[in-house]
Amino acid sequence: MPKGKILVTRSLPGKALDRLREAGYQVEVHEGLFLPREDLLKRVEGAIGLIPTVEDRIDAEVMDRAPGLKVIACYSVGVDHVDLEAAKARGIRVTHTPGVLTEATADLTLALLLAVARRVVEGVDHARRGLWRAWHPELLLGMDLQGATLGIVGMGRIGQAVAKRAEAFGMRVVYTSRTPKPLPYPHRSLEELLATSDIVSLHTPLTPETHRLMNRERLFAMRPGSILINTARGGLVDTEALVEALKGHLFGAGLDVTDPEPLPPGHPLYTLPNAVITPHIGSAGRRTRERMAEIAVENLLFALEGREPPNPVV
Ligand code: NAP
Repeated sequence: MPKGKILVTRSLPGKALDRLREAGYQVEVHEGLFLPREDLLKRVEGAIGLIPTVEDRIDAEVMDRAPGLKVIACYSVGVDHVDLEAAKARGIRVTHTPGVLTEATADLTLALLLAVARRVVEGVDHARRGLWRAWHPELLLGMDLQGATLGIVGMGRIGQAVAKRAEAFGMRVVYTSRTPKPLPYPHRSLEELLATSDIVSLHTPLTPETHRLMNRERLFAMRPGSILINTARGGLVDTEALVEALKGHLFGAGLDVTDPEPLPPGHPLYTLPNAVITPHIGSAGRRTRERMAEIAVENLLFALEGREPPNPVV
């Protein structure tokens, strides 16, 4: 007799789910590329545990379809897709996977930063289309990183890992966060940071306070010719205003996350050569993703056994 049903909303890399099966749980994995809302509502019925991805909105309606639900073990560090108040009110534990994805996400942040500053995607496109016919002193001029100021918004785990990497490239790091930290970088107000940074990189969680943190006014308060990088959450940025800012005010933008996400085909951001967009792959190192699955499973098992999970949110 299985101990209870665990719904996993996507297949996960590695062997972490075997641990749940070995522990006697009935593991139901949704194998599709995405899980339509109606299917999520049906499949969650009877579950005592849920491992959702960032694309599944886990709200009161989902929770009420599974009255026996005891734990939501997020396969992410961000938990903006879960209604935490609704979970708390129902006595459902919520966990996440902090730390393990810090380095991979910082790596991708630098990949986007370099791609935008040095116009890598435009260069690749130029070569592929057969336009590379001569070396020219003025071909695809970009931003020099040595001596540039990088403004980090949200100096947590990922923000600090990005700062370390930026130093290796000779960048000067400044930051803003809710609380100043004992770090060798100057703390600035957001307004001051925007006015003085050549590159602004976003690393806060998405919360009611940070939603559209980069609104029209703040995007245009960035230095003319500067760069915006967002590997945190799409909801931090006013997309429509960003499109406008990219048509003259900003040098470019590197986005791993968007609002809406995914962007519909043909979206104006896809038509701008100075926007480099990746499909939310910040943590997509194989080992990182396997470890995230192991940590989500560990959190789930602890919570189901009535023990304090290693990475609780609620
Ligand atoms: P973290 O360690 O909790 O860091 C978040 C930082 O944001 C903290 O330093 C916090 O400041 C700061 N912050 C919160 N609200 C703020 C506000 N209103 N203004 C300024 N700063 C604020 O989290 P993390 O592990 O670095 O992850 C950050 C986010 O990255 C996640 O929440 C997630 O959404 C996103 N992420 C994306 C990917 C991807 O695949 N693209 C992968 C991993 C994570 P205090 O320290 O002062 O409280």
